[in-house]
Amino acid sequence: MPTYEFKCRDCADTFEVNRPMSESSAPASCPSGHTDTVKLLTMAGLGGRAGGAAPAMAPSGGGGGCCGGGCCG
Ligand SMILES: [Zn+2]
Repeated sequence: MPTYEFKCRDCADTFEVNRPMSESSAPASCPSGHTDTVKLLTMAGLGGRAGGAAPAMAPSGGGGGCCGGGCCG
């Protein structure tokens, strides 16, 4: 289930909400109960800052790349 990050404009807190994509645009209340919140960029369930570096980029020369895997002829 995707994680959506919200920021409360009332107390400036940021919090995360796990919810189905079908409810991604639904309003969320901050942990303090405020409803004046805005949705931040979605982390798409990667865990965000919780567990170290995200595997965003593969190391170069590791094989499997376009020109390394033979697909470029
Ligand atoms: Zn708040």
